[in-house]
Amino acid sequence: MNHDRLYVGGRWVAPTSGETIVVVSPSTEEVIGTVAAPSIADAGAAVAAARASFEAGTWRRTPVAERIAALRRLADAYEARVPEIGDLLTSEMGAISRWTQFVHAGGSVALIRAVCDDAEQYPWEEPRLGGSATILREPGGVVVAIPPWNVPQSTLLSKLVPALLAGCSVVVKPSPETPLDGLVLAELIDGSGLPEGVVSILPGGREIGEALVANPEVDHVAFTGSTAAGRSIAAVCGRDLKRVTLELGGKSAAIVLDDADLDVVTAGLKATAFNISGQACIAQTRVLAPRSRYNEIVDALATMVDGLRVGDPFDPATDLGPLVSSVHRDRVRDYVKTGVAEGARAVVGGVDAPTGTDRGWFLSPTLFADVDNKMRIAQEEIFGPVLSVIPYDTDADAVAAANDSDYGLAGTVWTTDPARADAVVREVRTGMIGVNAFRPHFSMPFGGVKASGIGREFGREGLDAFVEPKAYYHG
Ligand code: NAD
Repeated sequence: MNHDRLYVGGRWVAPTSGETIVVVSPSTEEVIGTVAAPSIADAGAAVAAARASFEAGTWRRTPVAERIAALRRLADAYEARVPEIGDLLTSEMGAISRWTQFVHAGGSVALIRAVCDDAEQYPWEEPRLGGSATILREPGGVVVAIPPWNVPQSTLLSKLVPALLAGCSVVVKPSPETPLDGLVLAELIDGSGLPEGVVSILPGGREIGEALVANPEVDHVAFTGSTAAGRSIAAVCGRDLKRVTLELGGKSAAIVLDDADLDVVTAGLKATAFNISGQACIAQTRVLAPRSRYNEIVDALATMVDGLRVGDPFDPATDLGPLVSSVHRDRVRDYVKTGVAEGARAVVGGVDAPTGTDRGWFLSPTLFADVDNKMRIAQEEIFGPVLSVIPYDTDADAVAAANDSDYGLAGTVWTTDPARADAVVREVRTGMIGVNAFRPHFSMPFGGVKASGIGREFGREGLDAFVEPKAYYHG
């Protein structure tokens, strides 16, 4: 698949740089597509188009019911292309088809519709002071949306859809690892009849992201990615007093209480620790296990991890595809070496674990036992198929270890006692937490505390991010 045009301000235009992004399959190492790379000038043109469209006001003055109807039409058009988008995602990022088709691409349709549902209930104009004043929730202006490669569609739509519903104009910069699915979205947007200038979609590298963030015509940066990049974006936005929302890294704790059903725990952690080969911000990668059942829990997890099938992501029997790039695979492997050097015990996997494949950036999963919460493998986001089991003595110790982290994105509690679960849930400093499962919903706030970010996506809170409340006194 080759794209030689850029989608700038609602038009397909020739790039000014002559450079291309080459997209390589992480499972076959073959080139699967090329995409015209934007220049800094192209990024500037996209922001200029967004600013001009916002000032012209066609979209922001469109009644909200019509904006919602336009986004619902986009969801319908998207639904028809789910199989194609799912296959593209599997080719680009190596995630298994079961996930790209049904969870990610299929879920994106549900995402758009859920945000539209929330927009229907949203208090765009809210009477106050007995009717003598109104809060007008007005669009925040020109938004730059920057998603990562690991869940490229939903982290893009989580910004684009509420921003459009609010009446903003948006420039989206998908990651260079996953430009192809971003450009299918551009085609869908192109067919949706939005006014000229309102949306640009420019897959590009970090330098394009930096130029967009620093552009003085931008009002709001909505970012998902690493904490390191989030800090540098926040610094620029702080200097310029731009609005900024940040969905960053995680190192979430799965707190297994001593009455937990281990079949539920292992099935749940198979899904939440190894999804996308562990390349998920919400992955539950620190298992806190009571010392009284420590060996039993390690054995149960070892059986589960040992049974994970690594291989062709298009094969329905595969549990784990490759990692996204050779650089990232090597980085994760270095963390496994670090764990061994720190004194953790590799019960499954380890540094020399075979991948079972000749080509592609595969890595067998590793289960570490005897992990101390102070170790680097327990504190740093590895973003790969590596699970650490950390022993604890009392429920209070488990909560303290869960909170002893720079991050605070997600978490889980595993127990057969709802009252104990509730007591633990209320003590963990995190943005999201589930009991005996973790299933985020598109109408609930998504995001983290501490180094996991600032702000929330989805639900009413996700719309709040893209509006400015105007206090209107009627006189
Ligand atoms: P990354 O930070 O390297 O890149 C993310 C995006 O930002 C890419 O599009 C990249 O080109 C761009 N970028 C990087 N530096 C930039 C800068 N200084 N200015 C502007 N743009 C910049 O992250 P990644 O490797 O693509 O994604 C993995 C990270 O994303 C992990 O840390 C993961 O936890 C996080 N993540 C968080 C969530 C969440 O909702 N909290 C969801 C998915 C992924």
